[in-house]
Amino acid sequence: MSATLQHLLQQHESIKAEIEKKIHHLDALNTAFKTSHPHICKDCDGEGGTWKFYSGDLENPPEEDFDPCPSCLDQNRDPNNVQSILSEDQINLWLVKEPDERHLLAQELDDLHYLLSDLEDRILLEKEG
Ligand SMILES: [Zn+2]
Repeated sequence: MSATLQHLLQQHESIKAEIEKKIHHLDALNTAFKTSHPHICKDCDGEGGTWKFYSGDLENPPEEDFDPCPSCLDQNRDPNNVQSILSEDQINLWLVKEPDERHLLAQELDDLHYLLSDLEDRILLEKEG
């Protein structure tokens, strides 16, 4: 086995371990959050909408975009308790709210999965040598 392949396989193992750890952590956070918020919006899991991240390129700076959830925020309902109606001020707070730990973890997991599949491609190429 070439040194490069060995190195790639090691990286692959460590990223897989990291993904497992983060999935476990995210599951625990989600469970705890749902237990303490029994009327959480089921469509967005209390996130209030969907975050989109653009990493940007040479001409465009990185950007974050937030789409309010049609089942809660769009109907002026509290994503963490859909039985409660939000005032306009409260809704505006949601729209500028920073992503919480759960969002950030989910984003990190996406990035790690991307890294993992990239590594798998390189491992295949290296094996074909
Ligand atoms: Zn929702």
